[in-house]
Amino acid sequence: MNSEPTTDTTRSERIVERAREVIPGGAQTGLRAQAYDTGDVAFERANGATLTTVDGEEYVDYHLGFGPIILGHADDRVDEAARNAIDGGVLYGTGTAPLEVEVAERLVDFLPGVEQVNFCNSGSEATYHAIRLARAYTGNEKILKFEGCYHGWHDYVDVSVYPPEDELGDPHPESEGMLSSAVENTLVVPFNDSEAAEAVVREHGDDIAAVILEPVPHSVGCILPRQEFLETLREVTRDADVPLIFDEVITGFRHSPHGAQGEFGVTPDLTCVAKALGNGYPIAAVGGRTDLLEQAGGDNKSGVVISGTYSGNLPGLAAARATIDTIVEEDVQSHVTDLGDEYRAGLRDLLSDHGIEGRVVGHRSIFSVQFGVTGEPENYEDILGLDEERFREFAAGMRERGHFFTPNPYKRHHLSFAHGEAELAAYLDDADDVLGNV
Ligand code: PMP
Repeated sequence: MNSEPTTDTTRSERIVERAREVIPGGAQTGLRAQAYDTGDVAFERANGATLTTVDGEEYVDYHLGFGPIILGHADDRVDEAARNAIDGGVLYGTGTAPLEVEVAERLVDFLPGVEQVNFCNSGSEATYHAIRLARAYTGNEKILKFEGCYHGWHDYVDVSVYPPEDELGDPHPESEGMLSSAVENTLVVPFNDSEAAEAVVREHGDDIAAVILEPVPHSVGCILPRQEFLETLREVTRDADVPLIFDEVITGFRHSPHGAQGEFGVTPDLTCVAKALGNGYPIAAVGGRTDLLEQAGGDNKSGVVISGTYSGNLPGLAAARATIDTIVEEDVQSHVTDLGDEYRAGLRDLLSDHGIEGRVVGHRSIFSVQFGVTGEPENYEDILGLDEERFREFAAGMRERGHFFTPNPYKRHHLSFAHGEAELAAYLDDADDVLGNV
């Protein structure tokens, strides 16, 4: 049943063939299946900045599991902490545990908008809980979100992430099988459009349960927020007593241990963190104002239900404690930010040397090359029209030369503490070569 046919094919190809039989599309998610656009590949190991296939081919990894890996793969400090936790059992599922309190205390210390914390296992769970808390608090159902922002796969939020151009302004379901009422209860406006957001909150304030955003939208590469936009959102939501939710699933602990809220000095009512919080271990959290979180503080016979068998699992918490402490002790953000600046500057020079129309966007440890578009993107509409084919050719050329990132042109490169000058030099050298041919 699970033996690999012995043919001329590589082990990778044989495993992918088997995967396609028993896993829909041969990958756990549609986005992961896109790795096949640049060749069938099964991976078996990852260490530091290196990702290795089952055939022993090594890549410098810029994908980093879609972003959680901030310290590098298989970081000793994090893995040792998780192993120690495992020795004490992985799950208690009752009461609390010292590790849970220690990580919660760190989130409260570091994130300005966080007074109390509930743990869960993924970013989607965190945004789900945040919205339920906000709906309970306001008694309202509608959500205001921004085109191009992703907040997870559930019906509450999987709307207008990548809407088609002719549906801008209307809520666009991203998946079949979604509840139409969830879609209808979503209001969407362009990111960075303070006037539009303010008008919607002022007009529908009595029906809105929450305003949710990625403070730096990375689901479309990178869009930088206008300071005034974030401040307007803060002001109008405070006036309307509508919870403002910062989805810091990518930005939290990747850009700063204080999150984008610390960086931009705008404090939300609810915050979702995941990804870099645990350097790849399944750990996430929703945090925020005590009066909002306390709604879930009962005995589940009244108030808001926040639940989850694996929430607060010990290896995840241990990984989070070790990740946060390492980020702070090693000043990880200085390293990855400086390195990110070098990649961005190098790539901009290369685009200009080769006379290629395009732009390099990014922030700190994240960057994207977008072909066929220029200028700094302000919103989702500014991303439309990028040259998808050229990016896929670039990704394939770079992959042939040992650099791995998703061939999805709307996604991004990530850097970790394990990336350094050697990876930078090799990347720019090979990008020079590839850009000469795309
Ligand atoms: N919010 C943001 C900003 C994300 O980038 C993601 C994942 N890409 C999520 C939420 C959902 O997180 P998860 O995949 O862990 O459910």
